[in-house]
Amino acid sequence: MKIRLVVLRTFSIIFLVCLTISKLVGQNIDSLNLAKKSQHFNFYSTNGDIKVLDSLAITLENNYSRITNHLGIQIDKKINVKVFPNLKTFHLAINYPDAPDWVVGSCNGDELMMVSPLNPGSIHSYESIMQVIVHEFVHIAVSYARGDKGWTTLPRWLNEGYAQYEAGQINEHIRKIVESSVIAKTPPTWTQLATASIMEFGNMNGYGLSATIVEFLVVTYGIEKLVLLIKEPENFETIYGLSENTLEKQWIQYLKHEKVE
Ligand SMILES: [Zn+2]
Repeated sequence: MKIRLVVLRTFSIIFLVCLTISKLVGQNIDSLNLAKKSQHFNFYSTNGDIKVLDSLAITLENNYSRITNHLGIQIDKKINVKVFPNLKTFHLAINYPDAPDWVVGSCNGDELMMVSPLNPGSIHSYESIMQVIVHEFVHIAVSYARGDKGWTTLPRWLNEGYAQYEAGQINEHIRKIVESSVIAKTPPTWTQLATASIMEFGNMNGYGLSATIVEFLVVTYGIEKLVLLIKEPENFETIYGLSENTLEKQWIQYLKHEKVE
């Protein structure tokens, strides 16, 4: 149970920072230098982290085309990736000096900021930070796909669920937690998950639930419809030919391994 709580809280706090940081100004990046360029990204780091930049570049570039192709976008400039040597300098840079150890990545406008995978702190691992950076890139790509509409009118479950889906953060462990919670009690509705504040969203296990909603929609109806929905969430019924209510019931059947009707 303790482990579950840590996992859920980890999810909520990492992404909380991602969404709130866009207003940040005046970050201190004096110690970071442009240390590597890849096709679509420029990497800034200290000398000590140069050795991890090849792996970061490979991870981001390996995911780049799939994500931009899914969303049908071209990003016309390079994305800056800032790699901080430890949690202390990263937390200072995001203006959150007392942040807990599970705050490891964020997006700021169209920049990615993260702690070095070589020094991920007490909660995260090299591998989980490699997923977090892809998750943050998905948020930037989605904001490009939506143009002027940005994230504000995008249901929170769709934004976070899609980022987790593309970053490969849906695993058997999270699926099991969500399945048993849905069997134990009625989950929040999609409307509640769409409009919850970030704190409420985290507390209702919004990240885990959202990951399974997006997985259900992709597995059952395909990625093309999901991308249409990201671009025009107001056209839900036209895109799926079903009401949101019906799809919500199907999602619960999917989680309970019942026949989807
Ligand atoms: Zn996120």
